[in-house]
Amino acid sequence: MSREKSPDYARIPSMTVLLDAAARDARLRAMPRGPLTDALRQAVDDYRARLRTRDEEGDITAAAILDAAARILDAHHARRLTPVINATGVILHTGLGRSVLAPSAVERLARVAAGYCNLELNLSDAKRSRRGAFAENLICRLTGAQAAMIVNNNAAATLLALRGLAAGREVLVSRGQLIEIGGSYRLPDVMQAGGAILREVGTTNKTHLRDYENAITERTAMIMHVHTSNYRVVGFSESPGVRELASLAHAHGLVMFDDLGSGALLNDDLWRAANEPTVVESLHAGADFVAFSGDKLLGGPQAGILLGNRETIERLREDPMARALRIDKLTIAALEATLELYDDHARARQEIPTLAALSESIDSLTARAESLATSLRQAMPGESFIVAQDESFAGGGSLPAWPLPTAVIRWKPLAFSVDEIARRLRQGDPAVLLRIREDTCLIDLRTVPSESLPALIDALRSAAQCP
Ligand SMILES: *Cc1c(COP(=O)(O)O)cnc(C)c1O
Repeated sequence: MSREKSPDYARIPSMTVLLDAAARDARLRAMPRGPLTDALRQAVDDYRARLRTRDEEGDITAAAILDAAARILDAHHARRLTPVINATGVILHTGLGRSVLAPSAVERLARVAAGYCNLELNLSDAKRSRRGAFAENLICRLTGAQAAMIVNNNAAATLLALRGLAAGREVLVSRGQLIEIGGSYRLPDVMQAGGAILREVGTTNKTHLRDYENAITERTAMIMHVHTSNYRVVGFSESPGVRELASLAHAHGLVMFDDLGSGALLNDDLWRAANEPTVVESLHAGADFVAFSGDKLLGGPQAGILLGNRETIERLREDPMARALRIDKLTIAALEATLELYDDHARARQEIPTLAALSESIDSLTARAESLATSLRQAMPGESFIVAQDESFAGGGSLPAWPLPTAVIRWKPLAFSVDEIARRLRQGDPAVLLRIREDTCLIDLRTVPSESLPALIDALRSAAQCP
């Protein structure tokens, strides 16, 4: 028979002793009482559990519990939002917050956040105004759309369009376009939430115009085109474009809605090279409504933008759900400043980080990589840094088939495994994410602006040092 042993909890120091010791501990001294007590309690609970399940040799000292509490607090703080140096080369990294804002957008946001602002007040006549109207006008002017509605994100824009234009009726979508983005956005679910009935047409790889045409009945309200922005069906595949779908829709008195997602705004060499459709092209091709994100290729804050005719957009604004999905003043501030940069194409490409990263040339990337490698060799003698060619990714559900040649630095750390180095870098301040391939770390310069290089060098140096 096994001997039941009752744990001796008295071996654990009391909370009074622990708080006393914490007041003399450099790591914990400045901690507010609430979180400190919680962390100490959790550490004590962990020790109690250990006493129940296995033999703990020797004394359980206050110092050991303080160490555990300090680790608990560190882990807790690591979950708050904090800047990350993105050396992965994935430009629109959803896990890292997609687009980085332009300096002028950050400045506008900070100024508006610090005090009151004219969010819903017209300062020239002191009358009430609609929030976001200025940004909506900017988008209309830039794209030629009649009206715009800006909401929380593209999923919200799509939901509102479906509710307002197709509730209780059928929407035709090609099977090849039933997308899932990042696990949380599924078109069939959004369709259901919008009260519309999904009518799938064609097959995954082939859908013909006649498939749409044959599916039209008196229950049909809309033909929807979804830009397959995070994957491409390549090879033996085809499906009609926006122009053909719009003509078909109009010939039958239906509405044509283009869920563009990625949101490349204006026609530009950059998008031509990537074969990426733009908002302007979609409108020209005859789409009645176009929806896209603010924080993908547009390079602004998280937002969803729906373009269409004035009368319908005004009607969609009346949906109570639009109130629930409206955007906040900080987003509006950042979006206005971002859109203002588009008045000058060259300036937009330079100052909007997403566009700057997408358009940086291989020569510039190689020169920056060579220079960083030289600094790293000086800062970390003995370690080897090799500049090599590789490929970056647009990411974030954008430009899947556009290879972006880049320059990376390859590094095989001497003293640690790459997994250990990656862990140390993630937990540093600032945190650093890089690309790992087999047993090599890759630092992709495309997503690291020059201002971040000194901090990156420091982070790499301290990650490679033994404690
Ligand atoms: C990204 C994307 C969405 C979702 O956009 P959010 O702004 O993240 O809500 C919807 N549709 C398409 C085609 C997309 O690419």
